[in-house]
Amino acid sequence: MKKISVIGSGTMGNGIAHVFAQNGYHVSLIDVEKSFLDRGIATIDMNLDRQVAKGTITPERKTSTMKNITGFTNLEDGVADAELVVEAATENPTVKFQLFKELDKFCLPETILASNTSSISITKIASQTKRPEKVIGMHFMNPVPIMKLVEVIRGYHTNDKVTGIIMDLSKNLGKVPVEVNDYPGFVANRILMPMINEAIYSLHEGVTGVAEIDTVMRLGASHPMGPLQLADFIGLDVCLAILRVMYEGFGTPKYAPCPLLVNMVTAGNLGVKSGEGFYIHHKGSKELVPAPRFA
Ligand code: NAD
Repeated sequence: MKKISVIGSGTMGNGIAHVFAQNGYHVSLIDVEKSFLDRGIATIDMNLDRQVAKGTITPERKTSTMKNITGFTNLEDGVADAELVVEAATENPTVKFQLFKELDKFCLPETILASNTSSISITKIASQTKRPEKVIGMHFMNPVPIMKLVEVIRGYHTNDKVTGIIMDLSKNLGKVPVEVNDYPGFVANRILMPMINEAIYSLHEGVTGVAEIDTVMRLGASHPMGPLQLADFIGLDVCLAILRVMYEGFGTPKYAPCPLLVNMVTAGNLGVKSGEGFYIHHKGSKELVPAPRFA
């Protein structure tokens, strides 16, 4: 496999394109507007510069990586000769279902269609196509060039051959793939999100403060980042959306999102991306200061 199309040049899409291109694959990177593509490609360029400065890649490898990436704003052109498409568009079922209907039409019959979704059912995405056996989840972690895990999610109809190809491909990218079945939250989020939710409940119920909860989990459980800081990093809107998928999917109160999380998302306090969540986030500053409400 040599030709990969990546849909979406945002946080995850540009990271996925970066990793494929760095490993010698020809990548067509697709987004809806040229300005989004330019931003994604500029991010890849900057992240490669960082790798060169650290000495993890040579300047020549950076040049060859950038040469492997071509931008497209037209889906049909961008996927015309792809052997694999990795979809990393916005986490919205309507957007993804429409995309997979179009991919099924525009791609070669043998093309494998993968989604990087964090929470939408792979089986449901696959049912938008006439090739559900060739639809699979390829759930990279953020930041993609650094994080080793790829959760490989088998939909109800995904076949063994396709799963094997994606497991091997992930290894070729230097990642560690783990095969899981298609149930709400898969594995990473099914375990992570209830922990984050419980941290928010502990804050909501006044057990202790933001910094204290994070310190307990950093020093008590050896987590590199406390759950509230991590929630800010992921985006509180994303955490809420994933919890809701699990709450609806399993139908048990175990996954009911904490009312404080719901309030914060409604108020627009989404974490790093909005500048305030459980902490205040100033651009360029790594200082961790709890938001005034929680100080
Ligand atoms: P993002 O908002 O940063 O980027 C999404 C990009 O998709 C945007 O540039 C947008 O313009 C583009 N897009 C939307 N509709 C499109 C279409 N029809 N065709 C082409 N491009 C389109 O989002 P993200 O954080 O990169 O998330 C992308 C996917 O990755 C989601 O499914 C998300 O659940 C998943 N994911 C995110 C993370 C994370 O930490 N951010 C981690 C794992 C998985």
